[in-house]
Amino acid sequence: MGCNWTIQCLYWLPSYFLSVGSKSCDNICNLNIEPNQMSSVSLQLFINNEWQDAVSKRSFPTINPATGEVICQVAEADKADVDKAVKAAREAFRFGSPWRRMDASDRGLLLSRLADAIERDTAYLAELETLDNGKPYAVSYSVDVPMVVKCLRYYAGWADKWEGKTIPIDGDFFCYTRHEPIGVCGQIIPWNFPLLMQAWKLGPALATGNTVVMKVAEQTPLTALYVASLIKEVGFPPGVVNILPGMGPSAGSAITSHMDVDKVAFTGSTEVGHLIQQASGSSNLKKVTLELGGKSPNIIMSDANMAEAVEQSHFALFFNQGQCCCAGSRTYVQDTIYDEFMERSVERAKSRVVGDPFNMKTEHPLTSTGKRSGKREGAKLMCGGGVAADRGYFIQPTIFGDVQDGMTIAREEIFGPVMQILKFKTLEEVVERANDTKYGLAAAVFTKDIDKAHYISSGLRAGTVWINCYDVFGAQAPFGGYKYSGNGRELGEYGLDNYTEVKTVTIKVPQKNS
Ligand code: NAD
Ligand code: MG
Repeated sequence: MGCNWTIQCLYWLPSYFLSVGSKSCDNICNLNIEPNQMSSVSLQLFINNEWQDAVSKRSFPTINPATGEVICQVAEADKADVDKAVKAAREAFRFGSPWRRMDASDRGLLLSRLADAIERDTAYLAELETLDNGKPYAVSYSVDVPMVVKCLRYYAGWADKWEGKTIPIDGDFFCYTRHEPIGVCGQIIPWNFPLLMQAWKLGPALATGNTVVMKVAEQTPLTALYVASLIKEVGFPPGVVNILPGMGPSAGSAITSHMDVDKVAFTGSTEVGHLIQQASGSSNLKKVTLELGGKSPNIIMSDANMAEAVEQSHFALFFNQGQCCCAGSRTYVQDTIYDEFMERSVERAKSRVVGDPFNMKTEHPLTSTGKRSGKREGAKLMCGGGVAADRGYFIQPTIFGDVQDGMTIAREEIFGPVMQILKFKTLEEVVERANDTKYGLAAAVFTKDIDKAHYISSGLRAGTVWINCYDVFGAQAPFGGYKYSGNGRELGEYGLDNYTEVKTVTIKVPQKNS
């Protein structure tokens, strides 16, 4: 089973837990962390394998989005702390340092041990993730943490397999390439998949021998800090990974404009992506990779299996409460099946169980400060549209019908549980309309006709196209965006390119008798 299973199992999870597994899962849930039991997570900055207060001594609260209550205070990094962390990461990267001298296979072993430690502490990490982010515990436990483990194991395997080439250049020369680490990598991650985004960034950076200064999202710092303690536990040398909770405009921009950071990898909004590209341009031209927003089209042809198309399209949008960069947020439905598809989609959205993320029946809480409103502009509200609870940040599963391409809800990312359903007539028309967006992260097609599937998938300008499925991720397969959705690819072998400098070495080889 690949990573596919972990994400697909979410799809079956609620009914499984309701009908079969509720007893064992209730036991797991009884471990709920109370705010006063936070002692296992250090709440300081992690620099040079040491826990440190911020230079400013400042801290900020992190909130449980299910209740709106403060969980605890976390040290707040700013420029002075970034300077300390970059210094530690630079020293760890020095030629001849333990990290640079380490065998590639041993780097792989460290990553592998990190994966083992995370797997060992799955229940704790899942609870912490749910407490801080608000996503259902069943999902944190069965999807997020297992995908983290698989990602780190995948990249552990690459550490001693990322080979250069020998090049047949002209003349009496032997020429080869070395794949070398770039250096100190700044990594800035969002709140919607805190643990998973951390793993997607650390895996390829460490497998290729870089050092890291990571700024985690201010909404969800806790699991990253716990992983920092595991990084120390399994034996990474000091300075190889530094983890800083803090704000974007202070700690984040201190990383992106730092003259001694060689590369920045960012996941977040397109707006901040622009700022990061600019900061690189006006500092040291550090290399930049960006995973940004999307407005992904999901195309349902009239010959699709209706039940599967409805369920997968529901999953495509409502997974993680719509807070996915690749959410299938423009559902294009062929005119002949539009009414039936709409009716069944509304029925499915209304049946979604909204509530406490620690309740195993819950499919749908809502977290954090995502953009939480869709503007109507004449679209028809088919269900939802309101606040779903009197405390915390809950929004009802919402569907708009009769959506037109020019409406704001069809153009701008909502990043919440709001589905837009649009009608189309022909294949050619839908490809053109699907591409009429500044984004290009993901897309999907539901059809039984292989010719139509190939036609549409070749025509779509998106980094990922799913056919008769959605949100299928494997650590082995690259993910990233065309157009405003970003630069570079994460995951898979392609993900290693983002963390590698290619060095060409050419050696004079004197020929015999010459
Ligand atoms: P955001 O861009 O505001 O924040 C993301 C991260 O960037 C946070 O750590 C934040 O502190 C930091 N940041 C903010 N301003 C900064 C600055 N000036 N300099 C440096 N760092 C800064 O995004 P958000 O609203 O918190 O997250 C949701 C967005 O992220 C959505 O638009 C979504 O599409 C996108 N996203 C994309 C992917 C992907 O893989 N492409 C994955 C998850 C989320
Ligand atoms: Mg929080």
